[in-house]
Amino acid sequence: LVRGITVIAVAGLAAGSFFYLYSGPGETLLAHMQASLMLLLLITNIVMRLRWSYALFCSVAYIVTSIAFLRINWTASLLGTLGLGSVSACCAAMMLLANYSLERDERLSYLLQQSNDLKNTELHQLNIELGQLNRELEAVSHLDSLTQLANRTAFDRRVRELWQNAAETGQPLSAVMIDIDHFKLVNDTQGHLYGDAVIRRVAALVQQSMRGHGDFAARYGGEEFVLLLPGADLMTALSVAERARMMVHTAGAPAPKQPIARPEIGLWTTVSCGVATALQMPDTDFVRLLHAADTALYRAKAEGRNRVCAAAPLV
Ligand code: GH3
Ligand code: MG
Ligand code: MG
Repeated sequence: LVRGITVIAVAGLAAGSFFYLYSGPGETLLAHMQASLMLLLLITNIVMRLRWSYALFCSVAYIVTSIAFLRINWTASLLGTLGLGSVSACCAAMMLLANYSLERDERLSYLLQQSNDLKNTELHQLNIELGQLNRELEAVSHLDSLTQLANRTAFDRRVRELWQNAAETGQPLSAVMIDIDHFKLVNDTQGHLYGDAVIRRVAALVQQSMRGHGDFAARYGGEEFVLLLPGADLMTALSVAERARMMVHTAGAPAPKQPIARPEIGLWTTVSCGVATALQMPDTDFVRLLHAADTALYRAKAEGRNRVCAAAPLV
């Protein structure tokens, strides 16, 4: 508003000066007056880019001033007056049109910029949300939903990392395979919901049996768990497995929420464990370690369950 009014005021002053300077008879003065006013209109409407409403005001003022001047300068010929008048009117119309399209372009580019800013903000927000969701998805995709232990996918990744690490540092790597004994019977007699509660309880106990900083527990399959103990020799791994077995033996059977189907069978949970240790692994792979632990586990089953068996250390 201030800018518009200032420009109009200055232009008004200039127009007044022209009016005074050229207020004599003759076509030359008329032509000078018209050219000066046109220049003024060019400055206000195009150079200063006044808003459309101000530009309209200037154009009307220009025409009124021109007519007023013509009325004063009545000595000019009719043809000359008409010629100058029509050229001036055309110029005023074109300048008004130019001002309109300049302002429209300015408005459009402002809107475009606003819309781009909005899109960028929304995109940025979406990116943040997507990153958050990805992190959540990543975490969830590596967790077993029943036990909240690492799942098989996470285990497959971790065993490779730990194996690689052990190969580089020359530290031993131990694995303990744990399987719940006669679990089918638990399901059949106490129901699958109780079976699920047992799996959750065993998972928690197995996790608590570990002591090492980098120790890792995962649900390997239905009622099977696996521990990876980096840096643990066979004796250490055996003591971890024995601790897990003892803890499950003592506290592995949760209290049932509903009356149990066959109370005469009683509530019990035990596990069998197979332990294997790889001391050096230059030319072998982790599948051998897991296979050795699995073989030891089946020996524990065959020897009567609720016990820990060890495989000979792999070298
Ligand atoms: P063993 O002592 O030889 O290991 O006998 P087992 O009965 O434990 O072994 P088996 O492999 O025959 O049975 C495993 C059972 O575990 C069968 C399956 O129904 C049950 N199971 C596997 N996953 C789940 C689970 O998520 N929830 C429940 N409730 N049961 C499961
Ligand atoms: Mg099994
Ligand atoms: Mg079993």
